[in-house]
This record gives sequence, C-alpha cells and structure tokens, in this order.
Amino acid sequence: ASSKNNGIMLLLSALTGGFVYILVGAKAINGSIGIGNVLLTYSAVIMLIKALTDFAMTFTDLRNNNEHLLRYFDYVSLEEETGAADKSVDCNYAQVNIDNVSFKYPGSKNYALKNVSLFIENGQKVAIVGANGSGKTTLVKLICGLYDVTKGSIKINDTVVTARNRNEFGKWLSAVFQDFSLLALPIGNNISAGKLYDESKVWKALEKVGIREKIEKYPEKLEQSLFKDYDDDGVELSGGEAQKIAIARGIYKDAALIILDEPTAALDPFAEYEIFTKMNDLSQDKMTIFISHRLYSCKFCDKVIVMDGGEIVQVGTHDELVKIKGRYSEMWNAQAKHYIVNN
Ligand code: ADP
Repeated sequence: ASSKNNGIMLLLSALTGGFVYILVGAKAINGSIGIGNVLLTYSAVIMLIKALTDFAMTFTDLRNNNEHLLRYFDYVSLEEETGAADKSVDCNYAQVNIDNVSFKYPGSKNYALKNVSLFIENGQKVAIVGANGSGKTTLVKLICGLYDVTKGSIKINDTVVTARNRNEFGKWLSAVFQDFSLLALPIGNNISAGKLYDESKVWKALEKVGIREKIEKYPEKLEQSLFKDYDDDGVELSGGEAQKIAIARGIYKDAALIILDEPTAALDPFAEYEIFTKMNDLSQDKMTIFISHRLYSCKFCDKVIVMDGGEIVQVGTHDELVKIKGRYSEMWNAQAKHYIVNN
C-alpha cells in the first residue's frame, strides 16, 4: 500500500510539473512573460515537486512505523506469563514423561515427530543427538510448551504440558535456545531477566560458565551495560561470551530442569570442553536436557537420545551405544575421523 501511495504522489508531481512547464513554455513563446520569470517559475516548480515527494515519503514512513508500533503495543500489553511460583509445590524436583508423542507444525503436512516416548528421571543429564532436521529442536520446544502436541502427551511431574499452561509448569523449567537475545541493560539484569538480581547468585552463575573473571574487570562489574544503545560505556561481547551469558541466565533461575539447545555452538574448543566437563557442576543435581552436535559431550551424560527422521532410534549411554552397530556409532565414527579423541 505504501509503495502505491508513493507511486501516486510521484505521478501527481510529474503531471503537475509537466502541466506547469507546458503552461509557462507557452506563455514564454507567446511573449507574455520574460525569460527571467520563466527560469524563476521553473525552479519554484522543481522545489514544489521535491517538497511534495518528501511529504509523500515521510507520510509513508509514518504509516510503516505505525504498524511496528501497533505490534509493540500489542506485545507490551500482554499479560505477564510467569506468575509467582506456587510455594506449596516442590520446585526442585522434575520428572519428564513423554508418552507416544507425534507432532506436525501448524500448516505442515508432515510429522516433525513420530511416536516419541521417553522418561527422564529427576536430576538426569540427557543429550539429544541426530542429523539436522531429525526433530531435536522440535522435541525440546514441545517440552517447553511452545507448541501443543498433535498426539500423545508430555508431562512434567503430574502437570500436562500445553501451550496455554506455561504458568503451571514454568516454575520447573529454564531454557536457553540458540536464538537467545541479550538486552542493552546491565549484565546483572540480563542474568536475572528481571529488575532485581541477587549479586552472589549472579557471580556464581558467571563463574560456572567461565566468564566471571572477565566481568570482574569491567569498572561497573554487574552494573556494566551491554551494548552501546543506551550507554556509551556499554560493552560489546563476542559470540562466545554472549552465549556464556545466556547459559548463565539459564542457570541463575535454579530450575529443576534446564534445557540447552546447542549450548556451545559459538564457543571455541577450550570453552566448549570446559562447559561439558563441568556439566555436572553447572546444573548440579538438576535435570539437564541438551542438544549437541559434538558427540564427545555425550560421555558426560546419563542418557543419550539418538533421533532420526522425527523418531527416537536409540537410547543408551555413550559407552553402550558406541559399541553397537547403529546410528550413534556411525555418527561417532564419522566425527572421530575429524578429531583426535581419547576413547
Ligand atoms: P533438528 O533440531 O534436529 O535439526 P528440527 O526439530 O528443527 O530438527 O526439525 C524437524 C523437522 O521439522 C524438519 O523437517 C523441519 O523442516 C521441520 N520444522 C522445523 N521447524 C518448523 C516450523 N517452524 N514449521 C514447519 N516445519 C518445521
């Protein structure tokens, strides 16, 4: 619509301009106005046309921005989803029970997940592996209640997970997706994702992901802003540092279940190794479900889930799966060609 408006305005300006040129030209030929006046009129017309075009552009910008603003206002007027946790339930205990779940994305004909069943005990560390498009992200998104399952059910403890009751199971859950975003706010607030933060808890989380020392060197420490949008002294982070901050935010919540979608994709091999070897320390006795492309991370897990074509094709420990013929050992051998691994 905006380009249509622009087009109409441009056409009108061109027509007006053409009309005035012909009129003034005719009068000049006629001899009824002098050459000085012709030039004056032409430059006035050019200025008028430019002003009209600018007006049209500004008007279009206003209309476009208005659309964004409407979306923004819709968003800020949404009801707060994460209400205060119900103190009567134990927030430190979570079991996940996925019962014969199949799932199609809205508007999609194909199943992204087929007959997936899985039980995860409180405190277990679970890695989900598989080729691109095998359904890993879809599975963790369903556990987070970002979509409703098409068939079957997912429960965290006794609560059925649906897209509408995130308030009920949200207290057990903390998730760090790959497309996380950090805000142009102090580091402390980025970690707590709130107006207030508990300093010692924030430092602990930063320490676990191996970025405490770096933050301690900033003059404002936890009050140091990220990015320069609102603060000239704001700091810029590398991709890996941003990912560490995002993981620290996931840990800070102290949820019984922490979900990490490729937590180390942006980290260098040293930082990655550190995160995986410290996995137990990171989330302590909490259940951790993480998606990983680096199979050696599976060595630190209680359970490895291997997915292929939307189905779970193998479940076991790294040591069990690597010994038997199957998808896991195929992937392991393929990766081992590229890395020197101490088996
Ligand atoms: P993985 O995480 O293992 O790479 P995904 O769970 O992202 O795999 O994808 C599983 C299947 O679901 C793929 O076939 C993918 O194309 C499809 N898919 C993923 N996201 C969407 C979406 N938003 N809409 C439709 N199909 C999707």
